[in-house]
Amino acid sequence: KLLLTFAICRLIVTVGLTIDPTDLLRLGGAAAAAVGGIQLSVDQSDLESASMDFGMLTRTEPLAVLHPSSAEDVARLVKAAYTSAQVFTVSARGHGHSINGQAQTNNGVVIQMSGSGAGGEKRVGPRPGPPRVFEKERFVDVWGGELWIDVLKSTLEHGLAPKSWTDYLYLSVGGTLSNAGISGQAFNHGPQISNVHELDVVTGKGEILTCSEEENTELFHGVLGGLGQFGIITRARISLEPAPQRVRWIRVLYSNFSAFTGDQEYLISLHGQPDAQKFDYVEGFVIVDEGLINNWRSSFFSPRNPVKISSINGGNGGVLYCLEITKNYHESTADTIDQAAAVLTDKEVEALLKKLNFIQTSVFTTDLPYVDFLDRVHKAELKLRSKGLWDVPHPWLNLFVPKSRIADFDKGVFKGILGNKTSGPILIYPMNKNKWDQRSSVVTPDEDVFYLVALLRSALDTGEDIHSLEYLSNQNRQVLRFCDDTGIKVKHYLPHYTTQEEWMDHFGDKWGRFHQRKMEFDPRHIMATGQRIFKLSS
Ligand code: FAD
Repeated sequence: KLLLTFAICRLIVTVGLTIDPTDLLRLGGAAAAAVGGIQLSVDQSDLESASMDFGMLTRTEPLAVLHPSSAEDVARLVKAAYTSAQVFTVSARGHGHSINGQAQTNNGVVIQMSGSGAGGEKRVGPRPGPPRVFEKERFVDVWGGELWIDVLKSTLEHGLAPKSWTDYLYLSVGGTLSNAGISGQAFNHGPQISNVHELDVVTGKGEILTCSEEENTELFHGVLGGLGQFGIITRARISLEPAPQRVRWIRVLYSNFSAFTGDQEYLISLHGQPDAQKFDYVEGFVIVDEGLINNWRSSFFSPRNPVKISSINGGNGGVLYCLEITKNYHESTADTIDQAAAVLTDKEVEALLKKLNFIQTSVFTTDLPYVDFLDRVHKAELKLRSKGLWDVPHPWLNLFVPKSRIADFDKGVFKGILGNKTSGPILIYPMNKNKWDQRSSVVTPDEDVFYLVALLRSALDTGEDIHSLEYLSNQNRQVLRFCDDTGIKVKHYLPHYTTQEEWMDHFGDKWGRFHQRKMEFDPRHIMATGQRIFKLSS
């Protein structure tokens, strides 16, 4: 660690900072050194926030933090790390919403990409430029650390919006593009990584390269879903569409799992029929019991929809499934609801609902502005924060489950291993594999349709065993063992492994190419070591 600290001190000199290298160790929480627009901070609060993430399961302190104001800042730091005799690591950190320390590093520098936007993180020094919307071409150029909420706000000023989303918007563009970025629009538009025209990337050699389908294609496809392994995204060009103004948001319930999945699969099959009426968003969740921590994503059922879920379920405590769908529509003017548009939406929704097999008495509908729909999870966040339930450990498990085995998963996990306590919402929705570009780094099951199953768990210090981190982590292991034993070939989304063998198994056929790309773009293995795929090479 001492040697590395000296390497970073040399870097400070290399990039033109006036700090005396020997002072770095003595700085403690005192300061950041600043010259020529680049700042490398050893301020204790910077180190502290770069040491943690949303998961709160791992804590790793970096040697220093960089708040870049441009791609050039990022490139200068990475180049210095790459060319240094005593190599050190560089990890981009977006909004730190990983679960297992993926943006952390203990023997190098964290580049804090996000800051000063709606996410409220502090920024030191000048901010990279705001999103730049190209109306005619229908795309937006954004800084890699931009939060999606800020991208949305900027594009709406032009009546446009990105097509594919995550459920929660306080995540960075670079962070979600390094995974996939999925929500209920993915069946139709593909994940966020399928909606990018072009990227600027600082590779592990410190070069700034523009890449796209036409230019530096290996880098382009590698970086999308690439877990930060090949470079740092400093600019992304994201595809836009005319922004809808309102959303009809509907939830219906099922007690029969195959009716539920049959309807979900039918709805996502309509994507291939351009003239077919279809919903704009298809998701779903499993309802095991009620209560804030279990259903923090579904404030929907109350108070305007006061029906008790247990009454629908006949009070028998069985598992219920909720299909969640939306229809977007445009108003003719900005401040009045166009009755004709609303009536048309009613008719389309009605026609689509007629084809589904849900419990007829269980239709819950609401109508709201598009922004409020997209930003829905933030409301739940504020509620949890106010009760001290947000900053707690999150042993989340996100799996892609092949369609052919989803019923086995239901029997073994939802109706088996989980019992009737879940410690957080359980999302379940299908996607079409043909919307995922196989040239990207992301790995999905080997079937045309696969489901996301997300166990979004919070460990609470209630004194009760079933809420403890140990209990929930153990249950996650049980779920994975069950899939293994019964041959359900799941793939992890937001994967976390600790050995290269496990990573090779995860990537399967894609490992060879992934490894090759690593050798080409980050030969010293300095980038995103928190993913624990490659070890820093000396
Ligand atoms: P970080 O945690 O900061 O970084 C994640 C990884 O990406 C790290 O390895 C980091 O080094 C790398 N990285 C970060 N920035 C860059 C960059 N500019 N260039 C290259 N690499 C970079 N995901 C979904 O798909 N859909 C959802 O609906 C969804 N909802 C979520 C809701 C919540 C409350 C939370 C906590 C997470 C959710 N996620 C969802 C997961 C989320 O997309 C990922 O955890 C994502 O990585 C978070 O982005 P971040 O900016 O916080 O990334």
